[in-house]
Amino acid sequence: MLHLIFWSALCLTSPMVAGRCKNIPVDVTWPFDTDWPSLNASIGGHLLRTVPAAASCWPNGHFEPSISCNTVQSHSCLPPNVTGYVHDLGCTTRGLPTYIVNATTETQIATASKWAADRSIRIVIKCTGHDLNGRSSGAFALSIWTHNFRQLRRDISWKHPTKNITEDVYIVGSGQHVGLGGYIQGSGHGPLSRTYGLAASHVLQMSVVTTQGEILIANDAQHQDLFWALRGGGPGLYSLVTEYVLRHHPAPSNVTMTDLLIAPEADRNNISAEASWKAAVSYLQALPVLMDAGLAGACMMSTAETAVRFGFLFEATTAFVRPVLAHNGHESTPNSGSSAVTITFSTSNVANYTSCISAISGSNAAGGQSVVSIRLLGRRELLGTSRTDMTSYLKTALQAQNATAPEVQQTPPGDWGALLPAWRTAYLHFNANGATLWAPELGAYMNEAIPFDSEFKRDFYGANYDRLVQVKANYDPSESLLVLADSGRLCRVD
Ligand SMILES: Cc1cc2nc3c(=O)[nH]c(=O)nc-3n(C[C@H](O)[C@H](O)[C@H](O)COP(=O)(O)OP(=O)(O)OC[C@H]3O[C@@H](n4cnc5c(N)ncnc54)[C@H](O)[C@@H]3O)c2cc1C
Repeated sequence: MLHLIFWSALCLTSPMVAGRCKNIPVDVTWPFDTDWPSLNASIGGHLLRTVPAAASCWPNGHFEPSISCNTVQSHSCLPPNVTGYVHDLGCTTRGLPTYIVNATTETQIATASKWAADRSIRIVIKCTGHDLNGRSSGAFALSIWTHNFRQLRRDISWKHPTKNITEDVYIVGSGQHVGLGGYIQGSGHGPLSRTYGLAASHVLQMSVVTTQGEILIANDAQHQDLFWALRGGGPGLYSLVTEYVLRHHPAPSNVTMTDLLIAPEADRNNISAEASWKAAVSYLQALPVLMDAGLAGACMMSTAETAVRFGFLFEATTAFVRPVLAHNGHESTPNSGSSAVTITFSTSNVANYTSCISAISGSNAAGGQSVVSIRLLGRRELLGTSRTDMTSYLKTALQAQNATAPEVQQTPPGDWGALLPAWRTAYLHFNANGATLWAPELGAYMNEAIPFDSEFKRDFYGANYDRLVQVKANYDPSESLLVLADSGRLCRVD
């Protein structure tokens, strides 16, 4: 999304767009059918031709479907002319890439990437496909799939490239659920961000392959500009990462889950409902103080019949939370109750960090439909906003809030990479439609932000934008790596 791009309907190449657009199959400059087998042979037979899941339901299709239409109809979206087809829900091939490299070696990636770049074919990289905005898909693209690069090994005396020290590291490949590709290059937050900072700040080295077919090491000693960009400057844009060297930190040993329920009294109608919103505001306003004092973790807030849950990773949660809330003079303190709301607050120890993560993680099932819209919230937004406005923002939308500060704020400059500067002052990253009004200037976490943000340069990249464009020009001069999830032709506009 670094470059301004647009798509138009499938059309023939015209002299006006030639050279400024990525090739698509109807173009005369698209490779012949006989060229693809040559590419396949040059990468050891690792090229896959994509076939839409519903191919068998299309009449006269030119695909060779492996799944019968009957099976598709009961398990997938439906194509036109099939019973049950609903126009708004119907199948399209949209972001389906044309071919996939099921890569197992860096050499295969280098060969295939250069082949596609030389032919002006768009390249997309896919690790796990978890991307919420479809940035690992792309119409008429050659997809490089990195799932085979899974590895996890520890080196307790990894030699730092510029400092005369060794580090305890994990050397990791692609990842299993949320993958490292998008997670780290986007920033990577989690319940430990309050304690250690963002994931991108703990990368010591990356092995990369460029669209020019080079296989490089990026770290503090070589290709520093690329190393900087790959740590928070946006995934899928600069080159393809095959391996990460990550600093190892011990997992917290004493993990506490905290449940907080704010329940309006059933018979008080609007008075109770308003009181419960005020109580929720009180908790949000208390968070900067609590986090500065050592509270870490993640919290989920939701309305209606789902209880409000704060999952924290700190042994003294209760001791921290209660006095701060009482000190702030809010209407309700935990377990005190009030005339309009009942607040219950309980804590329980969890066996270990892994159990905590699985308890606060959502379902891993594919196919959910939602648009996530993250905004970063700092001290000013949490403490300098009127309670009335905060209540109104909370009402607009409530979903997942994860804590970040203060360790993110204190990350050493050398570890900062190309992370959005707004993370420095953020306490929460707040998932809520309408939060732009609350924090218009702070920016958003690009991996979980609304992709149609017209201010994406400012909100996702901030002051790093121009430098990132330069890094992209250096390492992907053919502009082959594009992360716009859509169908159709992609053209450069100045
Ligand atoms: C269920 C779920 C839970 C999540 N939880 C969190 C969370 O706790 N914290 C958080 O920070 N985010 C979270 N996210 C968001 C997550 O960070 C993004 O979805 C991220 O893009 C996933 O990365 P991926 O590589 O697995 O996905 P993919 O869809 O495979 O790729 C995402 C992007 O990364 C690029 N990319 C992938 N691999 C590479 C590579 N090897 N080299 C270069 N570019 C690459 C792709 O081109 C694409 O642009 C969650 C998402 C989901 C769906």
